[in-house]
Amino acid sequence: MTAARALTDTHGRTIDYVRLSVTDRCNLRCTYCMAEDMTFLPRRELLTLEELAELARHFVARGVRRIRLTGGEPLVRRGIGDLADALGALSVDGLAELTMTTNGMALPAHAARLAAAGMRRINVSLDTLDPARFAAITRGGDLAQVLAGLDAAQAAGLAVKINMVALNGVNDHEFAAMLGWCGARGFDLSLIETMPLGEVSGRREDSYLPLAAAREALELRYTLIPSIHRTGGPSRYCDVVETGTRVGFISPLSANFCASCNRIRVTATGTVYGCLGHDQNVELRDILRSGDGAALDRALDRLLKGKPARHDFDLSDPEPAVARHMSVTGG
Ligand code: SAM
Ligand code: SF4
Repeated sequence: MTAARALTDTHGRTIDYVRLSVTDRCNLRCTYCMAEDMTFLPRRELLTLEELAELARHFVARGVRRIRLTGGEPLVRRGIGDLADALGALSVDGLAELTMTTNGMALPAHAARLAAAGMRRINVSLDTLDPARFAAITRGGDLAQVLAGLDAAQAAGLAVKINMVALNGVNDHEFAAMLGWCGARGFDLSLIETMPLGEVSGRREDSYLPLAAAREALELRYTLIPSIHRTGGPSRYCDVVETGTRVGFISPLSANFCASCNRIRVTATGTVYGCLGHDQNVELRDILRSGDGAALDRALDRLLKGKPARHDFDLSDPEPAVARHMSVTGG
């Protein structure tokens, strides 16, 4: 058994972070993420909760220290609390952090359970504080429900970071207001550039906004001091003097960060991708179902051997960089 071997790729990067998608389904339809008429996979094709937990155990045995549950919307997966319990228990085997990215809608029902499972912080996606604009971006979402979710997360003791996708002509006048609001609530904020993943209605390049422009807008109101803070992800952080919180910038297009990539992504059906921006992958579901741990190790080694050096996102290309949506790979 070779389970103690670290997950190291041919570019010298060690993988200690896994994004684990638990469903491709979602209770929202954000314009930059999905098409309105998005279809979802039959549930029988998804890994079971037991298989997800088994895979997580295997990853931890190979040196993975952080797991982020994502989707789709992870909180719409039935049994998510049980899965969080099973993964939280992996802390004794070396899992240092279990986190989640969620749209927050179902947090009132789940926040306390997640905290009890050992989760300490979560990312909640929120692109605007305007109810009408929120409904437009998410195609029908109710901002009040997300705000209730954020209250529930705080009441449960979860630290919150807000993820805001910067959308030219949509929320580009709201960056300073969002930072001020986050600061008042004690939330960190990450701004994210849109990435060309999957077909959506409309042209992505129209809504693409390089984050340098967002930073300039913030600096008219706030003092940003570059910070050495890292959360294991690609965000580059600044301390915000006036609020005592942080703002992070995730700029895959305008400032490539692939050289320090430490992650792989597993879809809800057990396909593991070496890179968000490439199709290079290995199928794990059948191997998992065979119960052959050595075969699982070999499959992961195959993935790492082919893990691309970097993404090749190019917004001037009319085709998306990859056909699969962010909700399939797991954001
Ligand atoms: N449903 C959850 C949520 O929205 O937080 C988790 C999954 S979602 C795919 C994860 C993150 O990806 C969200 O913060 C979302 O805003 C972001 N996202 C989705 N599509 C994107 C795209 N094309 N470019 C950049 N970020 C995207
Ligand atoms: Fe759903 Fe998240 Fe995609 Fe929005 S970004 S449609 S909440 S998966």
